[in-house]
Amino acid sequence: MALRVGVVGGGQLARMMIAPAVELGIEIEVLAEERGMAARLAAGSVGDYTDIATVLAFARDVDVVTFDHEHVPQQVLRTLVAEGVAVHPGPDALQFAQDKLLMRARLEELGMPQPDWASVSDAEQLQDFLDAHGGRAVVKTPRGGYDGKGVRVVDAATEAEDWFAALAEDARGGSLLVEEFVPFTRELAQQVARRASGEVRAYPVVETVQRDGVCAEVFAPAPRAGERLRDAAARIGIAIAEGLGVTGMLAVELFETTDDRILVNELAMRPHNSGHWTQDGAVTSQFEQHLRAVLDLPLGDPSPRQPWAVMVNILGGPAQGGLESRFASAMAAHPSVKLHTYGKAPRPGRKVGHVNATGDDLEDIVYDARAAAALFAD
Ligand code: ADP
Repeated sequence: MALRVGVVGGGQLARMMIAPAVELGIEIEVLAEERGMAARLAAGSVGDYTDIATVLAFARDVDVVTFDHEHVPQQVLRTLVAEGVAVHPGPDALQFAQDKLLMRARLEELGMPQPDWASVSDAEQLQDFLDAHGGRAVVKTPRGGYDGKGVRVVDAATEAEDWFAALAEDARGGSLLVEEFVPFTRELAQQVARRASGEVRAYPVVETVQRDGVCAEVFAPAPRAGERLRDAAARIGIAIAEGLGVTGMLAVELFETTDDRILVNELAMRPHNSGHWTQDGAVTSQFEQHLRAVLDLPLGDPSPRQPWAVMVNILGGPAQGGLESRFASAMAAHPSVKLHTYGKAPRPGRKVGHVNATGDDLEDIVYDARAAAALFAD
């Protein structure tokens, strides 16, 4: 009988797991918030991932439950595990991707390099941290942030007053995370796959470029990365995957600092935008690797197929007509670029697709990928 994977969340990450699942003959079902994107292509249902009964009913039909996002509440995850459902990554690991304060505390225990940080519950504590760190810091809501939402650079504690006020109104109370402002020269990402029986595989560390808090481009492997940097990043990724017991794909977002250190920014326990290049640039894509890992199958080779790969996100899309209205021009002008679109309606700033290019000459493929992606913008 075919292996069956259930993915909670019907976004582009679930959608991009479908192609390798089809190739391997793995049945994939999606519990989506709404029809569209992944739900249009895979079996499954539409329902609320915060509702225990809904998620349990979904889980009954599959061999393993995994995720397209990190928002499934711990209580739901723990109920699944108690009912005997295989959940990968499991709740004990996933909590560190759900709550940045928990993550900072655990990474400290593991001895991972990271920015100075503190948990602050009022403006006075934040001001103390600012005073001790040169007057500038980054305040983050521990839960629910993404694409830069829930992250604010502050020079005075008053700039986070609204967030403290919101905490005061929340019956559960809580704290904000504050971090030193890291003067980074660039951002990197290290991906690692780990399966339940322990095998781990590290992808090459990549450089990610963020614009307005959103990933815009990825260069793989990271240019100007010597052996020391590559090894350090891989070691950090593997130590976190093992230390937190991650099963499936892990992405570790890193800062490279002006004094050549790398510090952990945050974690994602699922396929990640920094790994979309692997679809066309690696022997095993991150989406296939995630399926293998959550099914506890032997992992595939994460090596690059070409010296360089670049990924450029298509953000927004054409104001008039769908992405398809630009297919002919993009395909005609850039036949060696691989187009990926997510079946989403264009909207300013929204991730609606990406292009991948691979080859020997980084400058050439960057030019090609940017030019192709630009044909989808207005
Ligand atoms: P999100 O969960 O929204 O992706 P991140 O924690 O990754 O939030 O922060 C978003 C962006 O803010 C980062 O990609 C980085 O550019 C900037 N940033 C985050 N933390 C720091 C920091 N401590 N110092 C400097 N810049 C930071």
